[in-house]
Amino acid sequence: MNIMASQPRRLESYVGGAWVAGAKEGMSLLDASTGAPVASIDSSGIDFKQTLAHGRDKGGPALRSMSFHERAAMLKALGQALLERKEEFYALSTATGATRADSWVDIEGGIGTLLSYASKGRRELPNARVLLDGDVEQLSKDQSFSAQHILSPLQGVAVHINAFNFPCWGMLEKVAPTLLAGVPTIVKPASQTAYLTELMVRRIIETGLLPEGALQLVCGSVGDLLDHVEGQDVVTFTGSAATGRRLKMHKAIIENSVRFTMEADSLNAAVLGLDAAPGTEEFDLFVKEVAREMTVKAGQKCTAIRRVIAPRAYSEALIGALNDRLGKTAIGNPSDETVRMGPLASLDQREEVRARIRDLSADAEIVGGDPDNPSIMSGDASAGAFLNPVLLYCDKPGSARAVHDVEAFGPVSTVMPYDTAEEAVDLARRGKGSLVASVFTNDPQFAEDVVLGLAPFHGRVMIGNRASAKSSTGHGSPLPGLVHGGPGRAGGGEELGGIRGVKHYMQRTAVQGTPRLLSAVTGRWMDGADARTDSEHPFRKSLAELRIGDQLITATRTVTLDDIEHFASFTGDTFYAHMDEEAAKANPFFEGRVAHGYLIVSFAAGLFVDPAPGPVLANYGVDNLRFLTPVNPGDTLEVQLTCKEINPRINAEHGEVRWDCKVTNQLDAVVAQYDVLTMVAKTRE
Ligand code: NDP
Repeated sequence: MNIMASQPRRLESYVGGAWVAGAKEGMSLLDASTGAPVASIDSSGIDFKQTLAHGRDKGGPALRSMSFHERAAMLKALGQALLERKEEFYALSTATGATRADSWVDIEGGIGTLLSYASKGRRELPNARVLLDGDVEQLSKDQSFSAQHILSPLQGVAVHINAFNFPCWGMLEKVAPTLLAGVPTIVKPASQTAYLTELMVRRIIETGLLPEGALQLVCGSVGDLLDHVEGQDVVTFTGSAATGRRLKMHKAIIENSVRFTMEADSLNAAVLGLDAAPGTEEFDLFVKEVAREMTVKAGQKCTAIRRVIAPRAYSEALIGALNDRLGKTAIGNPSDETVRMGPLASLDQREEVRARIRDLSADAEIVGGDPDNPSIMSGDASAGAFLNPVLLYCDKPGSARAVHDVEAFGPVSTVMPYDTAEEAVDLARRGKGSLVASVFTNDPQFAEDVVLGLAPFHGRVMIGNRASAKSSTGHGSPLPGLVHGGPGRAGGGEELGGIRGVKHYMQRTAVQGTPRLLSAVTGRWMDGADARTDSEHPFRKSLAELRIGDQLITATRTVTLDDIEHFASFTGDTFYAHMDEEAAKANPFFEGRVAHGYLIVSFAAGLFVDPAPGPVLANYGVDNLRFLTPVNPGDTLEVQLTCKEINPRINAEHGEVRWDCKVTNQLDAVVAQYDVLTMVAKTRE
C-alpha cells in the first residue's frame, strides 16, 4: 500500500494476523499545521480477548523458541529494513507538526534504539533461551545443595499504551526490549498521531521478519482489552497521570497482579550553577539547552525542561538571553525547511496548554511570548495548532505550588530564582519525582551537592559543562543504555537502561537444587556438578564436540624463589611483598615473600594450555579473577579447568567458551579462581 499524507484514509488495526478496519467511520485526525484530514481512526468490532490470545498462543511460543541471539538478529534486520524506508516516515511525520529535526528523534531515534538493543542482545546476552542472574548461591557446606537465579520470558503479552508525542520512538523503545526478552506485544498508539505508527507497523509486518503474533497493533480505543489481562501479561503506559492512574487501578490489573509500568507527567528541572555567571561557557550552554528543550517537538517531550532554576543574581540576564534566543525561533508549517518549530499536535492540545499556562500564571508572570497570538513565518495561523514559546518567571518559588505541579505540555518553561545550592535542590524536589534533571556547572563541589540531592528524585541527571559541550547527548534525550523513568509524579516506572529493560519482561526465579541438576537446568557448569575427564585435552575439541563439564586436571608445578625473582625483574614488578622478606612479614596478610598474582595466572596458563594449533582460536580475557590464598616459594600449584558455558554465535564459524579455572596448592586450598574466556571454532577444520 502506498501511503501519502495528502490522502485521508481509514486506519486499520493489525490483529489476529490480519489488517482490520473498525466497524465505524471513527474519529477524524487532522494535520497539525493545516487542519486537513489525514486519517480516521476506529477500533470498534475488534475482539480484544482474541487479540490477547493470539499473542499468547501464536507469538509467544514462536518468540520463545528463538535464542536471545536469534531475536537480536531479527531486531537488527528489522532496524535495517526500517531505515531503508525512513523517508516515507519522514513525509508522513510532517502532519504531526514535527520538523525534520523533531522527526529524526522520533524515527531514527526509534530505529536506533531498536538497533542498539539488537547489538546489546548479541554482545551482552548468551545465545540461549534462559538468562542467568547473579552468581551461584552455595546453600550447603558439602556443595550438594545450591541455588541460581534464572530469568525466563513471561508467557503473556506486553500491552504498550503510548503517548501521542513520539509515534515511532514511543513504540520502538518498548517493543525492542520486549521482543528481545521473547514476549509478544500489542501496541496501542495515541489516536492523534496513530497514522504514523500504523505506517511503521505496516512496513514491519511486510518485512516478514517477525513471527506471526509477535506484534499486533490497535488503532483506536482498546475497548475491553484490559478486562482480559492476566498474571503473565505486562501493561506499560505513557501519557497523562490521570489516565495512568485510572489504568493502574483497573480491576483485572489489580486482581491478577499484572506488571504495570507508568511514565506520566514530569516537571523536569534544569539548574544553573552558582559558578555559571553570565559570560561563562556554562551560562551560554544553559541558555542554548533550555531554548532547545522548549522548542524541540514544540516542547511536547516528556523530558523537556519545565522548570529553570537559576541563581537569583543571574535571573534577569538569563531571561533576557532566553527571550533573545526564543524570539529567533522560526515557527510555522514544518513542511517549510526553514521552520525550526512546528505546531502542537492538535488544536485541542493547544487549548490544553493554554489552560495550563493560565494555571501557572497563579504563581508566575509571563516574561516572554504571547500564548494567544502566535506569530508564524509560514502556514495558516488560524488552521494550525501554533503556539509561541512562553517563558514565565516565578519570583517566590519556595512558596509557590502551581509551578511545581502543573505540566504545560508545550513550549513553556518557568524561571525560578534560588540563592543556595540547598535551595536549588529543594526547588527541584518539589516536582515530586521527575524523569530527568540537568545541572550546568564547572564546580565539582556544586555538582556533588546538587546531583546527590537530586538523584533520589530522578531517573537520570545530566551534568553539563564546557568539557562535555561537544559530546553531550543533552538533557532531553533518553538513551537505550540509560534508565528512562522516574519516581513519584513521573510514574514510578523504569524503561530502557540497557539489558535491565529486557528483564522487565522476564520472571526472575530462584532455582534450588543439587548442582548436577541445576547445571542441567541452567546450561552452565557449577562447582559440585558432574565433570568428565577423558584422554583428549578439552582445547582439542571444537564446539561440535565440547560439552559443559568437560574437565582437565593439570600436572603440578612448584613455585621457587628464583621464579618470583625472575618474574619480578622480567616484568619490573618489584613490589616489596615479592622481594623483601622482612617487609613482607610485616604485612598483615603474608608470612614472608609471596608469588605475584599474575605469576600464578601465567603458570596456570602454562599448565592448562594445549599449545598446538586447534579449535581454540583466542583467549579474550578473564572474568572475576580473585587471588584467595598467598603462594610462598615451595608451594605446588595444580589447575582444574572445566568447560562452564558454551555460546555458539549464529553468524560466525566460532563461539565463546567460558572455562571455570581453579588453581589450588598442595593443601588443596584455592589460591586463585577465575573464568577464562576463549573463542573456539565450531568444527575442527
Ligand atoms: P492520555 O493519557 O490521554 O493518553 C495516553 C494514552 O492512553 C493514549 O494512547 C490514549 O489513547 C490512551 N488511553 C486514554 N484513555 C485510555 C483508557 N481508558 N484505556 C486505555 N487507554 C487509554 O495522554 P495524551 O497522549 O493525550 O497526552 C495528554 C497529556 O499527557 C499531555 O498533555 C501531557 O501532559 C501528558 N503526557 C506526558 C508524557 C510523559 O511521558 N510525561 C508523554 C505524553 C503526554 P487515545 O489517544 O486513543 O485516547
